[in-house]
Amino acid sequence: MQRDGFVSRRQIHVRGIVQGVGFRPFVYNLAQGLGLNGYVLNSSAGVTIEVEGESGELDRFVSRLSGEAPPLAHIEEVALTRLEPAGYTSFVIRDSLDEPGRLVPVSPDISSCDDCMRDFRDPANRRHGYPFTNCTNCGPRYTITRTIPYDRPLTTMACFAMCDGCLREYEEPRDRRFHAQPNACPECGPSLALVAADHLGEAPVFLQPGASLGAIGEVRRLLREGRIVAIKGLGGFHLVCDPMNDAAVRLLRERKKRSDKPFALMVPDIAGAERFCVVSDPEGKALMSPRRPIVILSRRPDTPLSQALAPGNSTLGVMLPYTPLHYLLFGDSLHAPPEFSALVMTSGNLSEEPIVTANREAVMRLGRIADVFLVHNRDIHTRVDDSVVRVFEDKERVLRRSRGYAPYPVTLHFPVAEILACGAELKNTFCLTKDHHAFLSQHIGDLENYETLVFFEETLARMKELFRIKPQVVAYDLHPLYLSTKLALGMTGVEKIGVQHHHAHIASCMAENGIKDR
Ligand SMILES: [Zn+2]
Ligand SMILES: [Zn+2]
Repeated sequence: MQRDGFVSRRQIHVRGIVQGVGFRPFVYNLAQGLGLNGYVLNSSAGVTIEVEGESGELDRFVSRLSGEAPPLAHIEEVALTRLEPAGYTSFVIRDSLDEPGRLVPVSPDISSCDDCMRDFRDPANRRHGYPFTNCTNCGPRYTITRTIPYDRPLTTMACFAMCDGCLREYEEPRDRRFHAQPNACPECGPSLALVAADHLGEAPVFLQPGASLGAIGEVRRLLREGRIVAIKGLGGFHLVCDPMNDAAVRLLRERKKRSDKPFALMVPDIAGAERFCVVSDPEGKALMSPRRPIVILSRRPDTPLSQALAPGNSTLGVMLPYTPLHYLLFGDSLHAPPEFSALVMTSGNLSEEPIVTANREAVMRLGRIADVFLVHNRDIHTRVDDSVVRVFEDKERVLRRSRGYAPYPVTLHFPVAEILACGAELKNTFCLTKDHHAFLSQHIGDLENYETLVFFEETLARMKELFRIKPQVVAYDLHPLYLSTKLALGMTGVEKIGVQHHHAHIASCMAENGIKDR
């Protein structure tokens, strides 16, 4: 649309979390609404926009770009260049552009949004009861991304060809699922399979998606019987049982070789959390946040929960469902009161080993723990545990930074070289830096066994690829026996700097809070 007045063009580079969060459709609709022409595309540096039109409308476009961005977008920088008009005649969304060496943050995985839950609960909707419902505002991200730019062929959704209905949504800029890379429905998307532990040698038979409600109904029946079920989720497997069933909880503890560490609970809603724990307003907010962490809450006395759940603990780790599959575990009708007031939901691993992600791996490593496996065929590329937070002085403090948080970077107050910090031995995470970003890995765990070391190396390789970081400097803990130290000392072609453990604690705290003093 041509308007009266002075026509000019702006090239705009937007940096931050702007991919996989509905940013391009937002830009498209904004430009259309203001009668501007040009294009928008995802690049390895973020999002690049060119808009052309009347100057006043261009100014409005720029101010609304930051002011009205979609909820999951996180804009770090908007860089603007004025250009001579190019004579664009429409506004279009162009194909992604790959610029080697540039970096773009990847969105963490986000719990199901309200709109998707409405689709999921509506008997008339084609996604009614479909466990893999998602949109541009929610669903898997980091766990399914193989590399950037974030486009379906570069995710583990590449093997699912979209049906006509999904493709229409994916291509319609006004649709909530426009370019939602994990977009799926019962006709074309991932499906479930239920495998009994004594049939683990056989390949799983994936059900027609319409049959998923039946499979989950069977899982609920088994849980009521006191069985242990391994369930594949967003970032890995969970081991699930009925927390009111003392024998089931004790059996899980015995089989998992986890003598006294507490098991986390999933409850269907906030009221469910309040039934077992005292929940303050900020704690409720943490529970309901789209990151859906496990929140450490103070436990009420005299609950019907098994004593074996968290022996000798005055607190419980509690989380709310974060995928449609989780909601189905609590009940079928999605309207009636839930069948379980809580479920034990603990990482699917053997004591101290990393969480299991692949179906075959689950069979090998969890075959002696679970009685039955509920698996699906959407691969988890990157394993991510549940995050753990605690509210202290009304503020959320992160104890374990994983799902929903990683790999979102900590913003540094000054640019730094490309450095790898290997971290310590217990509750290990490592850190890669570039420009103003410190990318912390998800929680890796205690580096005490081969499996966890492999998890460290695998995650390091993936994050280096994802964020295009080639560290020239490697920082390591001075403790000579830590596996992370040995790993650093074994690296070649890099400068190595030993850092005393507590010095590293203080320095990282200063970096996070922007303190530059000595
Ligand atoms: Zn959604
Ligand atoms: Zn479909």
